[in-house]
Amino acid sequence: MLSSSYSYGSFSEMPWVTSFLSERGNDLLCEVPVEFIEDSFNLTGLDQQVPYYDDALDIILDESTVDSDVLQESARLLYALIHQRYVITPYGLGDMKRKYKRGEFGKCPRVLCNHQPSVPVAVTQKPGKDCVRFFCPRCKNIYFPKSRYHEGVDGVFFGTTFAHLFFMTYSDLIPQEPPHEYVPRIFGFRIFDEEAYKRRHEAKAIKMKEED
Ligand SMILES: [Zn+2]
Repeated sequence: MLSSSYSYGSFSEMPWVTSFLSERGNDLLCEVPVEFIEDSFNLTGLDQQVPYYDDALDIILDESTVDSDVLQESARLLYALIHQRYVITPYGLGDMKRKYKRGEFGKCPRVLCNHQPSVPVAVTQKPGKDCVRFFCPRCKNIYFPKSRYHEGVDGVFFGTTFAHLFFMTYSDLIPQEPPHEYVPRIFGFRIFDEEAYKRRHEAKAIKMKEED
């Protein structure tokens, strides 16, 4: 998942982060400030989760003297975990808000949500398990990515908390209007809901029995 779109050599002169963010699909990500990455407090515990942690960190900071597929894979994983922590900080939330306002995360595919902008979300905190999904604040549902490039972006870049903290922080961005429900009709008439009728009938019967 983390390595699906990696290409070697093409951006060798570029800083690692710039090159990484320019890969297709990674337009969803924001650039984590170097100061955040260099502050070891922010990276607490990540050395337990990322193999070859020190080399991976050096690669991200363009201070590496060694390189290999394995180390690149570690660097990508480390950046994903750092990104997940960054986007729930006040600065990270601000960066993501700017991207949201520009519509960079796409829109809810549900017709009755009327092109409501969405935000990225993960269904698991574990890396390499599942790709990013998109959360719509109107219908409060999550959706598969529409772009095949986004299918290659691991959900771990955002984690399961970000989307909900985002709308808790910027509650003014939550649509006030409740989502419209789709009403199936045949020749303009609502379809008879047999199940709902049965439930109502049963409830009535129970009530009458209780009153006896
Ligand atoms: Zn929606």
